[in-house]
Amino acid sequence: MNILLLGSGGREHALAWKMLQSEHCNKLYVAPGNAGTAAIATNLNVNPNNFSAIKQQVLALDINMVVVGPEDPLVNGVYDFFKNDADLKHIPVIGPSKYAAQLEGSKEFAKEFLVKNNIPTARYQAFTKDTIEAGCEFLTTLKAPYVLKADGLAAGKGVLILNDLAEAQQELRNMLVDAKFGDASSKVVIEEFLDGIELSCFVLTDGKSYKILPTAKDYKRIGEGDTGLNTGGMGAVSPVPFATPEFLQKVEERVVKPTIQGFINDNIDYKGFVFIGLIKVGDDPFVIEYNVRMGDPETEVVMPRLKSDLVQIFKAIGSETLNQVELDIDERAATTIMVVSGGYPEDYEKGKVITGLENVTDSIVFHAGTALQNNEVVTNGGRVLAVTSYGETFNEAIKKSYQAIEKIKFDNMYFRKDIGFDL
Ligand code: ATP
Repeated sequence: MNILLLGSGGREHALAWKMLQSEHCNKLYVAPGNAGTAAIATNLNVNPNNFSAIKQQVLALDINMVVVGPEDPLVNGVYDFFKNDADLKHIPVIGPSKYAAQLEGSKEFAKEFLVKNNIPTARYQAFTKDTIEAGCEFLTTLKAPYVLKADGLAAGKGVLILNDLAEAQQELRNMLVDAKFGDASSKVVIEEFLDGIELSCFVLTDGKSYKILPTAKDYKRIGEGDTGLNTGGMGAVSPVPFATPEFLQKVEERVVKPTIQGFINDNIDYKGFVFIGLIKVGDDPFVIEYNVRMGDPETEVVMPRLKSDLVQIFKAIGSETLNQVELDIDERAATTIMVVSGGYPEDYEKGKVITGLENVTDSIVFHAGTALQNNEVVTNGGRVLAVTSYGETFNEAIKKSYQAIEKIKFDNMYFRKDIGFDL
């Protein structure tokens, strides 16, 4: 079949790499893609949020399946656009409906879903400009630190964790009255702080049944020892050593099953990846967030560990026969280290020539912010490359990634040297 993949990051390069291993994949197009996807598939210069332009390409190129990488097109309703169009409705779209995408697009929607389905999560209340005083009052009922979340999408920046009550009350006003995060903070979720370690669980669903993918843990901060500003993610490992079989059993029973049952009960149309952000408090899982797509850089370690045919799985999702699929997982560990442009996540320069990629033989280099310029690969974003390696142990995998990075050069490149060292 001919497949169109939407997106342009390391996640999409990893998904493209995996789909191309399938005998079911005839032609693969990526819109808009990057230099990495250009080397293995055909990039299309189309914005993933321009649905009518996507429609034109889908019809012109005889595309039989659409896989959605990032959240924006999902929250904007790309799934529904296809289902409601007579020319497109027979084409499976791997991703949730616009309604279901609110699980990521609105924190209040996600919390209501969690509570309704008895899924463990932090105690919370949501407030708007009109209920600001009640919000300040609710804060006094909680213990520090205080967790304030802009309801809408804020590119990973909309969550504040504050130690001081007066500061938390002031920030609540800033979010609601001064629109600190624009429209995204016209509503704010205040919740109890959960003290534990984070990990992510990835689930594939056709809306009725589910398959659980390997767990992963990412490293969010720019600086070593998890210090400094938040980023899109500086590296990831899979599996997660502290996710024991007993703990994963609890995740399946208390979180995954009721999530899918919640979709069934509410007639929620969901055909794709569910990314469940968890926090392990003692020995128990609590849900921090849902994302309605794969994580980046987690995809760069999860896809390499999936031995099964991803396109066949997507076909089963499209035909609601996922229950007939068995997942085959590579037992080896996988790690990925993000190589970024100096200055990221603040200001950084683009257009730096990347050399040495051809010298990497023992690792997989997934491209994130890269582009082709005069036949050279250049930097085109903050996060530039994700260097993934396998190992019988984490140490072996991590060592291989660092050895591979030594062969790669571009002006002002930066990466964390402590990914996986806490394991
Ligand atoms: P955005 O919507 O801006 O993209 P996000 O989706 O990243 O934000 P969350 O995942 O809900 O927002 O929260 C971001 C981070 O804040 C979490 O990864 C976690 O480290 C921390 N956090 C969120 N909620 C809690 C909580 N209740 N207790 C402790 N830490 C929390």
